[in-house]
Amino acid sequence: MKIKYSREDKVFNIRNDEIPYLSIDMLDKLGVPNLYTTRYESFDPELGEGVKGLRLSIMDDDDINEAAPVVIANRARLAKQLGSSIEMECTTDQEHTVNVHVVKKEDLGPSWPDPMPTHRLYVDGLVTDIPDVLLTAYGGDCPTIYLADPVRGAVGIAHAGWKGTLNRIPEVAIAQMVVRFGCNPNDMYAAIGPGICVDCYEMGDEIYDAFAEKWGKGDADRLLKKYPATDADGREIPGGKYHLNLNIANKMTLLRAGVPEGHIAVSNICTMCNKGIFYSYRARCMENHQAAMIINRFDR
Ligand SMILES: [Zn+2]
Repeated sequence: MKIKYSREDKVFNIRNDEIPYLSIDMLDKLGVPNLYTTRYESFDPELGEGVKGLRLSIMDDDDINEAAPVVIANRARLAKQLGSSIEMECTTDQEHTVNVHVVKKEDLGPSWPDPMPTHRLYVDGLVTDIPDVLLTAYGGDCPTIYLADPVRGAVGIAHAGWKGTLNRIPEVAIAQMVVRFGCNPNDMYAAIGPGICVDCYEMGDEIYDAFAEKWGKGDADRLLKKYPATDADGREIPGGKYHLNLNIANKMTLLRAGVPEGHIAVSNICTMCNKGIFYSYRARCMENHQAAMIINRFDR
């Protein structure tokens, strides 16, 4: 798996388990089981090749009766690899909201073939202090944010595309952990998982305006830079488009919420630059999603 990294520092470990995945080094050191998947169903590091096409979520075009057993079986295999089971899992819906759900015991386990319970609709973030609960969010180009508090024994996960990032979903999730579980942000650790990099993430002027309105012009200028337009020969021409830096934006939100800078891991992997390894919405190869998982278990 030849991943192209945007920085040299070590953020992820590659695990060539039955289903290969990445894990976040900082969370591994806390003893928090976590993962971010790839396209690969299997990978042989000796041969340097593997089988792609891993399915972990039901896509809009899928036949639910065909897809659901496949994705549930795959998620069950991943849960087992992390030392858990799908009966302990709760997933997000990926609706680009800032709704964060406090997981209850009755939310756990695969909901198919029953309709999804209403309290799980329109949820992009999950938090829990129930021991051994497995939280899952999905990513294509949108980063997932992992949260862990080893002092209170609580974890969270959030899907943070540009809308969730603009509306500061990491801060909403942290606020829930503070209010519901008594967490202190100073004790918390946070990781920004793989997602689209600033060079790949072209945005319309209205996104600059939205950040300027909500975050102020200074922050908008820091997060959105105009890249020059070029002609077919690579020469600069009038025009150009803004590019949004989701990693810096989410890191700013985590710092604002009180997570110490030394407790924040920021991804150095772009899903679009590595579209052969990861599903990428912007690269128009979104046959499925990557899963991001975290378990509320700490080695203390
Ligand atoms: Zn990129």
